[in-house]
Amino acid sequence: RLHNEVQALKGKIRVVARVRPSAVGEDKEDEQQQLLCDVNGTTLAVQTERAQTSGTQVQSHKFEFDRVFAPQSAQADVFEEVSDFVQSALDGFNVCLFSYGQTGSGKTYTMTGDHNSPESRGIIPRAIDQIMSYQTELRSKGWEYTLEATYVEIYNESIRDLLTRSPGKTDSKPEIRDSKKEIILTNVNREPIDSKEQIHQVLELAQQNRSVAATDSNMHSSRSHSVFTLFITGVNKEFKAQVTGSLSMCDLAGSERIAKSNATGDRLKEAQAINKSLSSLANVFSSLQKKTAHVPYRNSKLTHMLQPCFAGEGKTMMIVNLSPESEHSNESLCSLRFAGGVQ
Ligand code: ADP
Ligand code: MG
Repeated sequence: RLHNEVQALKGKIRVVARVRPSAVGEDKEDEQQQLLCDVNGTTLAVQTERAQTSGTQVQSHKFEFDRVFAPQSAQADVFEEVSDFVQSALDGFNVCLFSYGQTGSGKTYTMTGDHNSPESRGIIPRAIDQIMSYQTELRSKGWEYTLEATYVEIYNESIRDLLTRSPGKTDSKPEIRDSKKEIILTNVNREPIDSKEQIHQVLELAQQNRSVAATDSNMHSSRSHSVFTLFITGVNKEFKAQVTGSLSMCDLAGSERIAKSNATGDRLKEAQAINKSLSSLANVFSSLQKKTAHVPYRNSKLTHMLQPCFAGEGKTMMIVNLSPESEHSNESLCSLRFAGGVQ
């Protein structure tokens, strides 16, 4: 099975890139010139222009990935890449999938997509389907799988429960409890999941809670990280065996750099918090790749909370989302460099 290949990747971070189609009305030719996905699907180039006294200078920057998804790639193609990681979570690994990129590059489309359209459903609904059919398949072999979900948002280095039933009330704030043996989030609702309807309700609740707190929910969601986690426990009474794993799906805050001159007050604070957590993530990745003795997990809530997915029985995939339009080429270059740094 393909699964064996993933076993071989144990401890490795997989980094893939996905270029979204250009928005309606954009110049197709222009797009071709700016972000080139090559035919064998592992390299991608971006061209940037720089004004100089001698005229405009065009520079081409080429990057290598484990896989590159061209604009015409379907959600199903992306999920094919992810599916082995979902299986690993069922086999007892702590798995985390990230979508990274500037606002508007397709992070939410990739992670969540449109629930109501079979083709446009993203990773979350497809992963749930896979887990649930495995659950049914293994029941005939004596395995009982139970699922629990948490859904949190990290905004300005503060964690908020998106599955609370009393939004706005002063619930005790979620905290990361780090007991050396395990890392748990306290004061968050852990919702048992028995059916697809329940999943649907949980996702709805999170959506509602996200918009309640914010005056502009789109803006807010692009300034915060959201982490949806499924805790998976399989028990086989006959063999007295148990397996526990988890699958976290993280839609990161927009990676765009905020012009310092424009940012004051809240915007500046947000920008600094995002910058801090995204650079912590990059630092954790590079420490792991370099196998340095100290991995700085605790520098941000995001990396601290997801530590089990990086260390030991952990597996991580980063999906770098990119906008194809030339106006975004400088931002795309930053995203590609970030990814280059984590490989
Ligand atoms: P982000 O979450 O990174 O801000 P979105 O996922 O909201 O970006 O995507 C921006 C817009 O582009 C949305 O309207 C989304 O539906 C659309 N979009 C993104 N990726 C794709 C894709 N691969 N195919 C079709 N539409 C896409
Ligand atoms: Mg989004």
